[in-house]
Amino acid sequence: MCDNLAIATLTYVYADSTAVLGPLATFAEPHCYDLCENHSRRLVPPRGWELVKLETDLESLRPSSDDLDAIADAVREAAGASSPHHPVHTSGRRGHLRVVRETD
Ligand SMILES: [Zn+2]
Repeated sequence: MCDNLAIATLTYVYADSTAVLGPLATFAEPHCYDLCENHSRRLVPPRGWELVKLETDLESLRPSSDDLDAIADAVREAAGASSPHHPVHTSGRRGHLRVVRETD
């Protein structure tokens, strides 16, 4: 790997011999590798593998505040739908969406 800013995530789908290059993953997952712009463009799949690029528009790779609001709404709806007859305590769930900053 290199020191450049990662803008995409490469996922190896071993069952299909396919390497999928998509938007930068929010969470680290097994068989996923974050790549910078240069490495994404120079990426060559292993012999016999197919490379699938899900998104090449770099601007659209950046999540907008609208996207984050939509995710928050979806989480709230899911929480409400799971127990419609009981009040949902959202204070704990909201913690998952909070931006966590490391402090010295
Ligand atoms: Zn790189």
